[in-house]
Amino acid sequence: MNNFQYTQPATQKASIDALVKEPTAQFIAGGTNLIDLMKHGIAAPKTLVDINNLTLRTIEQQGNTLRIGALALNSEVADSKLVLEKQPLLAQALNAGASAQIRNMATVGGNMLQRTRCYYFYDTAMPCNKRQPGSGCGALEGYNRIHAIWGTETASTGRTSSCIAVHPSDMCVALAALDATVLVSGPKGDRRIPFTDFHRLPGDTPQIDTNLDRGELIVAVDIPNNAFAKHVHYLKVRDRNSYAFALVSVAAALDLNGSTIREARLAMGGVAHKPWRLTEAEKALQGKPATTATFEQAATIAMQGAKAYEHNAFKVKMAPKAIVEALKTAAGLG
Ligand SMILES: Cc1cc2nc3c(=O)[nH]c(=O)nc-3n(C[C@H](O)[C@H](O)[C@H](O)COP(=O)(O)OP(=O)(O)OC[C@H]3O[C@@H](n4cnc5c(N)ncnc54)[C@H](O)[C@@H]3O)c2cc1C
Ligand code: SF4
Repeated sequence: MNNFQYTQPATQKASIDALVKEPTAQFIAGGTNLIDLMKHGIAAPKTLVDINNLTLRTIEQQGNTLRIGALALNSEVADSKLVLEKQPLLAQALNAGASAQIRNMATVGGNMLQRTRCYYFYDTAMPCNKRQPGSGCGALEGYNRIHAIWGTETASTGRTSSCIAVHPSDMCVALAALDATVLVSGPKGDRRIPFTDFHRLPGDTPQIDTNLDRGELIVAVDIPNNAFAKHVHYLKVRDRNSYAFALVSVAAALDLNGSTIREARLAMGGVAHKPWRLTEAEKALQGKPATTATFEQAATIAMQGAKAYEHNAFKVKMAPKAIVEALKTAAGLG
């Protein structure tokens, strides 16, 4: 691990200024991802800007929106009465992640910016375009069991992207399904980013995970009120029952009028470089009866465009089954 400077500013402005001042500086919140990256030699910031003095930990209802501060711990959010009452899908997704100890350190902002778990990204002896742009992708011709099945082609050229890694977060899959918005503050002022635009596809610049600008601090996440609370399910399929990242995961939310689906939300994890929202499948569910047959049709629609690599073809079979299972459980048919 390289030597680094450490600073703990008292205000948001001072934190942003400290980050902008030093080109390699990084914010640190819970440190559960960044410190690992520094130990592996993947991140080498010359300055760590500790943001834990900032008052960004509140979870509160503001009009029609649930606002969650960027420094709220994953465990606090999962246990929050407000979250359990209004957005239980988020609580389920958070509780499916990591371990209790890590959830007690990890923050909402840090969770959004955690980096991929691709083996080659962590192995500095191997090529990896995300870690070292232009060095190649170890996974494309290598062992790609945990890799993406969607979003791996560069839209402008149709060629395979230079990275096929997946985003590892569980929380972010629920936030994508729930139409969340990210509030950020930076050198040029404040702005709001729809959650589904926050993370990006790799294209030929996989070293960039998100659409955040340099120096921007995540301040909070807003989730608009919805009518899904009674019928949600987060299904995570993984190699071990705990302490393992998703092979595939599904966040499903239904608004039911009797047994008819008024509205649906669906997103997947473990399948793309960003949380993968299934909007066509959502549209197909609207107005239909909440039956296994309806869910199977939606899953077929959802799978359009999926593409497997040598070792992850099982995901293309597993994903539609997981979608059906999550929807059945959300609807009370599980
Ligand atoms: C063994 C293990 C198992 C895990 N399993 C899972 C799992 O199953 N599912 C899952 O979803 N996650 C899992 N995780 C990941 C864990 O959720 C993340 O490490 C954690 O959420 C990161 O939060 P943090 O506050 O510790 O971030 P940090 O490590 O402090 O920071 C991570 C990144 O976010 C940036 N950052 C932090 N806060 C802000 C902010 N407010 N604004 C701008 N930038 C910011 C930092 O600069 C850094 O680049 C696991 C982690 C470990 C170590
Ligand atoms: S999939 Fe992405 S993260 Fe993994 S080796 Fe290839 S470029 Fe690196």
